[in-house]
Amino acid sequence: MSQHDPQNVLDLFVIGGGINGCAIARDAVGRGLSIELAEMNDLASATSSASTKLFHGGLRYLEYWEVRLVREALIERELLLKAMPHISWPMRFVLPYHKDMRFEGDTPTSKLLSVVMPWMKGRRPAWLIRLGLFMYDHLGGRKILPATTSVNLSSGPEGAPLNDRFRKAYEYSDCWVEDSRLVALSARDAQARGATVNVRTKVIAVTQVDGIWHVTLADQETGTERVVLARMLINAAGPWVESIIQNTVRVNSAEGVRLVRGSHIVTRKLYEHDKCYLFQGEDGRVIFTIPYETDFTLIGTTDAAHDDPEIKPSCTPEEERYLLDFASNYLKQPISRDDIVWSYSGVRPLYDDGASSASAATRDYVLTLNEGAGAPVLNVFGGKITTHRKLAESAMEKIEPFFAHLGAPWTAGVPLPGGDFPVDGVAALTERLMAQYAFLTAPWAKRLVKAYGTEAFDVLGDANEVADLGQDFGATLTEREVMWLVDHEFARSAEDIVWRRSKLGLRLSADEIAALDDWLANR
Ligand SMILES: Cc1cc2nc3c(=O)[nH]c(=O)nc-3n(C[C@H](O)[C@H](O)[C@H](O)COP(=O)(O)OP(=O)(O)OC[C@H]3O[C@@H](n4cnc5c(N)ncnc54)[C@H](O)[C@@H]3O)c2cc1C
Repeated sequence: MSQHDPQNVLDLFVIGGGINGCAIARDAVGRGLSIELAEMNDLASATSSASTKLFHGGLRYLEYWEVRLVREALIERELLLKAMPHISWPMRFVLPYHKDMRFEGDTPTSKLLSVVMPWMKGRRPAWLIRLGLFMYDHLGGRKILPATTSVNLSSGPEGAPLNDRFRKAYEYSDCWVEDSRLVALSARDAQARGATVNVRTKVIAVTQVDGIWHVTLADQETGTERVVLARMLINAAGPWVESIIQNTVRVNSAEGVRLVRGSHIVTRKLYEHDKCYLFQGEDGRVIFTIPYETDFTLIGTTDAAHDDPEIKPSCTPEEERYLLDFASNYLKQPISRDDIVWSYSGVRPLYDDGASSASAATRDYVLTLNEGAGAPVLNVFGGKITTHRKLAESAMEKIEPFFAHLGAPWTAGVPLPGGDFPVDGVAALTERLMAQYAFLTAPWAKRLVKAYGTEAFDVLGDANEVADLGQDFGATLTEREVMWLVDHEFARSAEDIVWRRSKLGLRLSADEIAALDDWLANR
């Protein structure tokens, strides 16, 4: 018999505060399990703040015949949109067509076409794009998002920023999501339902005693250590998933992670309309240009092998050049390094399925259960921001045999904090906020609604005038908002606040960001 007092043993211990760890913690606590989660840095400080920020089916994965993944993701888009209409919204994507566009060499579709239509020599025919978009429109039970249309680039605003050789395009729908806010709100919801969420807390060792995990945690700010007991471990460490298996849990397993770096650059706004472009390159890859934070354009992404999770990913000069050249090939006004105002980079923690190229490695998630160490561990590989909720549900199916009292699925359609308003309700909510807080400017009110939804009222509280919001840190960031983020959203540093809970870092100077850090340290 175990000598552990069952009162002190948690059901689950989750390693990693990215989207997957937080989604699993939220789902599991809502099903009645006791849970603690540790994130060694800030929530979403690794891959989950470095995505292209799309809830999307992934049009290009159809060429890999990943129909299950695309269908699941397409169905999720609208479900998620309804649960978080503040941090997610519909977007239209313009896909200019040109006859020289090529496939990636090793997709099953390109291989098939090279046999049945050898004269195409790797070019992607227009009918194939239309077929892909038809499937994209119909696979996922689309109700809110508009269907695909054709666009004449010779007239209309969509053609204006593009090189004249592009005359024809298709336009389809996907959704935007504020990735790092999604993580913070998922963690908050998990906490509100009873989970314990620790940031700046690293799992430094785990040992198994009588079928129970002893998890040693090190506080990264104070250096203090403590031990927590749990029946099961969830290894949602993203790029570190393999390192946790090999070096921390130390089970004998051949499971590997394939680290694929993706970088983005941000420029000043390149065009006036609010649609995105999906550009196809002559190397078969695609990149997006996306209207970003009102005054900017986001361009990405790349696919590059990344050797070591301990090496912090950054956009290399070669990746910058690649993205600049790729976009300039389409734009009337080419762009250069001088146009870049910011860049970021993240590492996809993909399951190593032996695929030959980085872009061919499966984007699908893989959950593996390991019992070889005497107590169970569930390892999370890959996945998309878009499929985080489904991934959490699949994780619950995997762990069900260990927890007789596990509740039923519940997360579909349940709003995240602040998301309890209609999908098309941002304008009405912004008006209500401005009516109650007359001192707000329209862009300020809109920013607050798109960050906090209905909770924007709680953030501002009893303020009657700007002065009631305390210190002004610049770019409409005030002491009251900062304290909301510290008290409710696990923020500790200026970086957490200006690059992950918001993107105000694009508008604040280095001195202003340093002043915020000083203020937080001396508070
Ligand atoms: C360039 C790029 C673009 C992408 N674009 C999209 C997109 O548009 N749409 C989409 O759906 N998906 C996209 N993705 C995929 C998506 O971002 C990832 O699948 C997802 O963020 C992975 O989340 P995660 O929780 O598994 O990993 P992470 O977010 O990396 O989280 C793992 C966490 O574990 C923590 N950790 C590690 N070791 C320890 C330890 N010992 N103790 C405590 N904590 C630890 C880390 O600090 C980290 O925060 C993109 C990915 C990339 C890289």
